[in-house]
Amino acid sequence: MANATAGIKLVADAMRDHESTNSGTGFWYGYHADSHTSLVGAREVANKGQRCFLNDDEVEDWIKGLHSSRPFDEGATFSKLFAYPAQSNMTGRRLPLSSWCKKLRMCNEPDKEQHVFSLLDAASLVSTSPLDLSDCDSSPDFVTLSFYKIFGFPDLGALIVRKASGHIFDQRKYFGGGTVDMVTSLGGQWHAKNSTSLHSRLEDGTLAFHSIIGLSCALNTHKRLYGSMANVSRHTGFLARTLFQRLSSKKHANGKSVCEMYKSSKSSYDEPETQGPIVCFNLKSSNGEWVGKSDVEKLASVKDIQIRSGGLCNPGGAARYLNMSTTEIKRNYDAGQRCGDDNDIIAGKPTGSLRVSFGAMSSMRDVNRFLEFVDEFYVDKNVRVPSNKHHLSNGFTSTIAPLNTSPKFYVEKLCVYPVKSCGAFTVPGGVPWEVRPEGLAWDRQWCLIHQGTGVALNQKRYPKMALIRPFLDIDRGVLRICRGFTIEPGNYIEVPLSESNTTTTAPAEICNNAAKSSKVCDDRVTVTAYLSDSISLFFTEFLDVPCMLARFPPEMSSRYSKHMMGSSTVTGNHDDRTLPSLNPMPGSFPEQSSLATETPSSSSFQNPILLSNESPLLLISRSSVAKLNETIKSMTESGIKSANPLSAGKAVAADVFRANIIVAEDSTGNPSSAIAPSHPYVEDTWTSFEICNQKFDVLGACQRCQMVCVDQFTASRSDEPFSTLAKTRRVDGKVVFGRHVALSQPKSHCNLATTMIKVGDAIYPNLT
Ligand SMILES: *Cc1c(COP(=O)(O)O)cnc(C)c1O
Repeated sequence: MANATAGIKLVADAMRDHESTNSGTGFWYGYHADSHTSLVGAREVANKGQRCFLNDDEVEDWIKGLHSSRPFDEGATFSKLFAYPAQSNMTGRRLPLSSWCKKLRMCNEPDKEQHVFSLLDAASLVSTSPLDLSDCDSSPDFVTLSFYKIFGFPDLGALIVRKASGHIFDQRKYFGGGTVDMVTSLGGQWHAKNSTSLHSRLEDGTLAFHSIIGLSCALNTHKRLYGSMANVSRHTGFLARTLFQRLSSKKHANGKSVCEMYKSSKSSYDEPETQGPIVCFNLKSSNGEWVGKSDVEKLASVKDIQIRSGGLCNPGGAARYLNMSTTEIKRNYDAGQRCGDDNDIIAGKPTGSLRVSFGAMSSMRDVNRFLEFVDEFYVDKNVRVPSNKHHLSNGFTSTIAPLNTSPKFYVEKLCVYPVKSCGAFTVPGGVPWEVRPEGLAWDRQWCLIHQGTGVALNQKRYPKMALIRPFLDIDRGVLRICRGFTIEPGNYIEVPLSESNTTTTAPAEICNNAAKSSKVCDDRVTVTAYLSDSISLFFTEFLDVPCMLARFPPEMSSRYSKHMMGSSTVTGNHDDRTLPSLNPMPGSFPEQSSLATETPSSSSFQNPILLSNESPLLLISRSSVAKLNETIKSMTESGIKSANPLSAGKAVAADVFRANIIVAEDSTGNPSSAIAPSHPYVEDTWTSFEICNQKFDVLGACQRCQMVCVDQFTASRSDEPFSTLAKTRRVDGKVVFGRHVALSQPKSHCNLATTMIKVGDAIYPNLT
């Protein structure tokens, strides 16, 4: 079958259709709190009641009760199914393998119809451990597992049925091709089940025959490489024990623990029968605050470390170890938290955890790499007073130089990104450029969409998009898009800036939420796609993914105006930058309320940016980029290792931040100092500023992700500057750099004058 879940469902469906002589059709279902979501779901099929056993003692008591009540409940012997995981997929705890199944089997009266069944979910266990089913008295009635968790390939699962319990499938209602010997369809409903074997009666439809052939290769190869599952178990157990011990004892310089470990009190890493090679935990800063799981996962991926984070498909384990009541879980859901999202900490509690799992191919080097990673980013080596807002994690303090010689700021560079996630168009010096409520004119009016899924492509997934360079030729009224940096015949295309001709384009609905493309897509936008094959081929060839050019509709011109217009039908699009301050989660972003009251345009923001995480304009400062590069250099020189020697100490270009406005400081009015005074990160203190008498509001900090590691000139990826940003620019668990800004809305709506800005214009910041 497809996977372990399919096996569980087959058993649950059969139990539902199963008729016992005393009590009719259906069953009662009990499951252990350590169960995977796929086991929990079977409760919805149980029509005779269900129970979640909170711990082993409850299971033992229930089994005892079954034994003693046996003679008295003749009439109520409806079928019961008890399910539990052989190994918790969250903590790696291993549960009693044979004792429960054996005791349960003994509840059934000899010579009578069996009515208590056991289902063992071995999916997590068997990837690193042998499973011995040779004693049929103590073996479960049903065992499910997934082969891809053992071998990586093929995508198959298995259901192992104890022969004596196979009869529960006899009354299974559904049949499909392959499971019947004869069927009548016209005139009468009759069919005869396949009689040759139980497994053939369960094969609904065509088998995954290629995968089944692949499975025998997988078995042989695994055996050749690792010898036996016992070897794998010893090896992975040793790695997990080492990691667990080292993480548990890791301390910040102030003596506080770095990790909160999630381990069952019933298990020990010294006893393979009670604990598998999984280490589950959360990280804490030196002042006791939780570190967001997404932050760790992002940084780990930059460092080529694969860890899993979140609720881990183990609702009981998550609730227990993260200490979440059902009320809290529902409240978080109502507030918008969803499985797999970035809402890591709500009301001071983590919503998920981190999990390191070892497999046959893991090595001691992996353990050390991970420990070094935690050391590098999450262990505070300086003893100091508890941090406040201006102290960033890891002992670095943000360096905002005092403004004793008030610097003058000016617009050093203006960048427009006409095609979302592609290269920048730099506005030529001296050319005034229009700023609209939704951003710079022509910014993010186009995008590339995947021909199969309709998802808008982004640079995080397709770094080569950085090399797609746009040029806005306003005089000729065209957007020229070039593959690479030099214009040669065949190397560029042109599309008109004026609204597209309806014979060459067609409306298309796209899913504009590439970040979560595997999820339900609730971020739908209708765009206009260019039908020309040559245009599609132009991008498809270059990026090696079937895609086409599309344009956002004029009425929502890019991503922002819709909020201003109060439309609620579209919910915007994700790009490389997010606006943390406007995240709706309670307790996740403390600035939210203050921002809402300080910003004149706040009323138009409060709700609309729930899903769209973008702002009209992104501002960064040259001094901050220079400071960041200094830090990258000094950290390399001071011996703080970088896992990637290629990127160690290498300065990054300001372009990686994909800003619209780059500000620089002006030293010309300050003749007393030969060297320009530099005030890195001073923009963090601005609440608004003016350019050419037009006010701009600062909306908040720009939260960064690993996309800043894509070099915009070579499309190569490294671990900088994200590594250094994560160490020096983390505020409230978010890595920030640059500010989101927007045109301040005129108080009266009659002010319709267009705002134009150009390179060289002076900027007058307001700090209050
Ligand atoms: C992975 C896992 C499952 C589900 O496996 P699928 O292959 O997704 O069906 C069920 N239970 C446990 C313990 C698991 O680890």
